[in-house]
Amino acid sequence: MLGLYIHIPFCSAICNYCNFNRGLFDGPQKARYVEALLGEIATAGTAGRAGGAGRADAARPFQGREPADTIFFGGGTPSLLEPEEIARIIAACREGFDLTADAEITLEANPETVDEAKLAAFRAAGINRLSFGVQSFRETELRRLSRLHTADRARMAVAEARAAGFSNLSLDLMMWLPDQKVEEWLESVDAAIAVAPEHLSLYMLEVYPNAPLKDDMARARWSQAPDEDVAAMYVAAMERLESAGYEQYEISNVAKPGHRSRHNLKYWTDGEWLGFGCGAHSTKGGARAKNVAGTDDYIKCIGSGQSAAIEVSRMSGAEQLGDALFTGLRLTDGVNLDAIRDRYGVDVWERHGADLTDFVDAGLLRHEGARLWLTRRGMLLAHEVMAVFV
Ligand code: SF4
Repeated sequence: MLGLYIHIPFCSAICNYCNFNRGLFDGPQKARYVEALLGEIATAGTAGRAGGAGRADAARPFQGREPADTIFFGGGTPSLLEPEEIARIIAACREGFDLTADAEITLEANPETVDEAKLAAFRAAGINRLSFGVQSFRETELRRLSRLHTADRARMAVAEARAAGFSNLSLDLMMWLPDQKVEEWLESVDAAIAVAPEHLSLYMLEVYPNAPLKDDMARARWSQAPDEDVAAMYVAAMERLESAGYEQYEISNVAKPGHRSRHNLKYWTDGEWLGFGCGAHSTKGGARAKNVAGTDDYIKCIGSGQSAAIEVSRMSGAEQLGDALFTGLRLTDGVNLDAIRDRYGVDVWERHGADLTDFVDAGLLRHEGARLWLTRRGMLLAHEVMAVFV
């Protein structure tokens, strides 16, 4: 089934490391943006009913409302929208798509943007999963990242979400922060375990060449830990989380049983999704599309009745196969080579086995029967293994 991604590009302040498609919050612009989103979703729904046209869906004409079972509000900071705006966007998705009764509907939220009343209103609007951008439970680190919340505010936000009735919460944490030591990182992991979310995403900070954080680090003489410490951070965090009842299911993601992110799994299991909003991507029917990135450009496109998609491309069989292997290997389950052969007509082991054997021998990759998967150590060197397929 389809996943629906809704991009909300507004933030209260711009974090010094951020490389996402976002801008500063502007009330009137936000109101125009929400109207544009509603228009884009309605047009996609109509295109589906008319047989599929315009977006990345021309390959499989579909008569009627297409089934969808996830909506993901990502950003930016989607929790800056009013609950009433979220409710209208969800209603537009229901109108345009056949949303299943048990659809997973996630909202990314920054801890400083919510309180219990607002979270309860998001829940009433149809949100049933929250993903909090916590990043760290250490004040020094939060200040270094120029985040607006404190560790206590993050704890409070989780408590408020529970009081508002949410039973499916995810937290984002970042490791490899400037000057962070292994034990300091594990303090945040322990603090996250203590508030007991159902799901956690652990990312490594990437300092982009033009990020203001790069200058901050140079001025303050902060550096990122050496590779062996990052490996220790990753492995120790995963071991601690497993002891606390979480299962790792993807390179950066762990969940309590039954709480894997259904939406994100579409990205990793050769699934299909439509993205709405500025800079959003879609993948469907063997085609890819990308919307115009600028917020005002997007509003203008939709307002003048045009498609916001600026890049639409049909994927070759080789590209689809590459994507399936690349994303599939991110999962702890790995890829099923029989399923790949049935879908793409390629025997992956016959084609790449000679190169992959080196990784198997080095303990980074395992191959048993039809299953091919990265070991935990292999996950740290995933790009090197995956390069075989490029
Ligand atoms: S809140 Fe998230 S999207 Fe917004 S600036 Fe910070 S890192 Fe970027």
